[in-house]
Amino acid sequence: MPMNVIEIENLRSRYNGIDVLEDITFNVSGGDYIGLVGPNGSGKTTLIKNILGIVRPAGGQIRLFGHKQSAFQEWFRVGYLPQRLSSLNPGFPSTVEEIVALGLIAKRRMPGYSSKAHHDAIDRALDLLNISDIRKKKIGELSGGQQQRVLIARAIINEPELIILDEPATALDPETREQFYAMLKHLNRQRNVTIILVTHDIGSIGQHANKLLLVDRRVVFYGSFDDFCSSTHMTDLFGTHSQHVICHRHEF
Ligand code: ADP
Repeated sequence: MPMNVIEIENLRSRYNGIDVLEDITFNVSGGDYIGLVGPNGSGKTTLIKNILGIVRPAGGQIRLFGHKQSAFQEWFRVGYLPQRLSSLNPGFPSTVEEIVALGLIAKRRMPGYSSKAHHDAIDRALDLLNISDIRKKKIGELSGGQQQRVLIARAIINEPELIILDEPATALDPETREQFYAMLKHLNRQRNVTIILVTHDIGSIGQHANKLLLVDRRVVFYGSFDDFCSSTHMTDLFGTHSQHVICHRHEF
């Protein structure tokens, strides 16, 4: 039985006294690849911010790797890729390798961490994302797709066991998007990295993820794609067409 990487029980989240999430309960097992979907404003980003401790829950419990989230200290085990960058000032002074190295801050404080390990980790991340040749360029000079790759490199540089990505593919051209999804799949299938991917791309998420988490202020559905696709309750809720859009992976 894989251990639970995330356990959430009765989570409630609110802004200015108004509930945005309520009664959220679910577990994420090690090695899961979860597609998190829901309409605009349904609370997906808020859920992620609660998991990451950026927003404090108004109620309920979150545990990460078996630890209370409020006491969790091993953030190097978690990689986070936020929603797309708003456009950067072309003069923004950091280079690609400096931005990628920022991902290592949590690890630098660990005993035994060497400067060789530091440079090797940067080289590996740049290689994996195919951005070694632009490592000295300023981030603001790059295209949206290249900037996104830099942020992905920063998110994975610690070789995290859990990666959370918020709509990561929007700025990528179709070819880079495919490479990006292939890289995530590789991390998940070969290295057993647990992934939560917030996406609007419901037509292709079933080709990548093994579970679907559908949120609309509450958990509307959480389970395997097979269960979702055979659920008459979900057909009643979404109509045959929308359910089919999510389920058409079976034709591939
Ligand atoms: P999603 O990611 O599904 O689009 P969000 O989690 O961003 O949804 O937003 C959920 C609800 O919370 C929306 O109604 C949004 O307007 C509101 N909201 C999000 N962030 C804030 C904030 N910082 N302050 C007040 N309301 C917010």
